[in-house]
Amino acid sequence: MAEKTLFQRIADREIPAQIVYEDDWCVAFRDISPQAPTHVLVVPRKPVPTLDDLEDADAEVMGRVLLAARNVARQEGLSGGWRAVINCGPDAQQTVFHVHLHLLGGRRFTWPPG
Ligand code: 5GP
Repeated sequence: MAEKTLFQRIADREIPAQIVYEDDWCVAFRDISPQAPTHVLVVPRKPVPTLDDLEDADAEVMGRVLLAARNVARQEGLSGGWRAVINCGPDAQQTVFHVHLHLLGGRRFTWPPG
């Protein structure tokens, strides 16, 4: 069996994290190095490494990630808006190879991102 990813180990409570939400499809926890007052990572339980590795059959996996992000944003009271970021691969500075959505909120963001 493949070794668990860091985020699977967090989901399985083998590594501590501030888990703020979970359902059958996803787990969400606070980023260890927050870039905004709210910075939560929404992670599918399925350990797909990057967006490039998604298969057509994973449509519900990513749909559930977006719905979980919406739920967390509501829970966090981000009524003024929030940003969702998914880094894919080295050029985008992805560092953990288990797909995850960064939910950022609580401050005003600029565009384009850096
Ligand atoms: P990426 O660069 O892959 O898009 O994002 C990975 C994110 O995971 C980073 O924002 C980083 O701060 C966060 N991270 C890395 N290790 C841990 C950890 O052990 N616990 C938590 N909560 N976040 C982590």
